[in-house]
Amino acid sequence: NADTAMYRAKDAGRNNFQFYAHDMNSRALDRLKLESGLRRALERDEFVVHYQPQMEIASGEIIGAEALLRWQAPGQGMIFPGDFISIAEEAGLIVPMGEWVLRTACTQKKAWHDAGMRAPMKIAVNLSARQFKHQDIVKVVSRVLEQTGCRPEWLELEITESVVMDNPEAAARTLQKLSDMGVHLSIDDFGTGYSSLNYLKRFPINSLKIDRSFVRDITTDVDDAAIARAVIALAHSLKMTVIAEGVESAEQLSFLREQQCDQMQGYYLSRPVPAPELEKLLNATSQKSIKPASGD
Ligand code: C2E
Ligand code: MG
Ligand code: MG
Ligand code: MG
Repeated sequence: NADTAMYRAKDAGRNNFQFYAHDMNSRALDRLKLESGLRRALERDEFVVHYQPQMEIASGEIIGAEALLRWQAPGQGMIFPGDFISIAEEAGLIVPMGEWVLRTACTQKKAWHDAGMRAPMKIAVNLSARQFKHQDIVKVVSRVLEQTGCRPEWLELEITESVVMDNPEAAARTLQKLSDMGVHLSIDDFGTGYSSLNYLKRFPINSLKIDRSFVRDITTDVDDAAIARAVIALAHSLKMTVIAEGVESAEQLSFLREQQCDQMQGYYLSRPVPAPELEKLLNATSQKSIKPASGD
């Protein structure tokens, strides 16, 4: 309780320092626990990947799925990336974790292909800044593709603006190598960072993802609507496809359809779900009926 804590701190007088030091230590301890938990999670196989379908708006076809990491720590339920990705990034654990996600997603896509199942054409995998800047990223991607039998054109890598703009020359070389391999590239959370349009035009980027924060009030906020329209126009004039993330309603979808947005992803179509549930959803939508599905 904060009041008691403050009282205790005041009461302790010149021992204030001890109190604050204790507070800091406990936070550092939580962090350390989380870090060692993450370290063990890889060895103990506690991570799972959920898949969120992406739909082509004009046809109603599910054309892709984004792989999203979840952590099932024993006795703690499901932990979402917002609670551990930044710690993993700082601790450098994101590199092996990210490779695990990539391998899992590629293995899944190949399995769907081999089973002759209806499956999304592409699997999108998020790359963190640390992973993208790692000198071996191109080797890692090509090795995983080779080992899993996943074709490069089945894979899309999502990177954020800040990651590519931070060091555009180095990013350009990495992006070119990945693109030459046949892998698709997209800019995630587009509009929330800083982009040099001059670089954007020269990078081998295939698509832009309109950030969820612009989509949320797209039908009521004129500024958000204007931004969404501008991103769609920008993508198309640069010969890129554009996908809106975080679509939760029929109204948002119809706005996006009117504005010629190519693809959508969001709870309105489906939450991220385990692979078997995505298979069910794909079978259910073979008649092009879009119904929200349950998930996490
Ligand atoms: P992101 O890449 O922008 O992924 C989209 C996030 O929005 C996901 O959150 C997804 O569940 C959520 N979302 C999708 N549709 C809707 C919607 O209609 N409404 C709302 N409110 N949310 C929606 P999630 O899975 O919690 O992931 C959060 C972020 O964590 C991701 O944002 C991504 O930046 C990061 N992340 C997730 N998996 C990985 C991974 O394997 N590697 C790395 N490096 N980052 C990851
Ligand atoms: Mg993403
Ligand atoms: Mg995104
Ligand atoms: Mg986002």
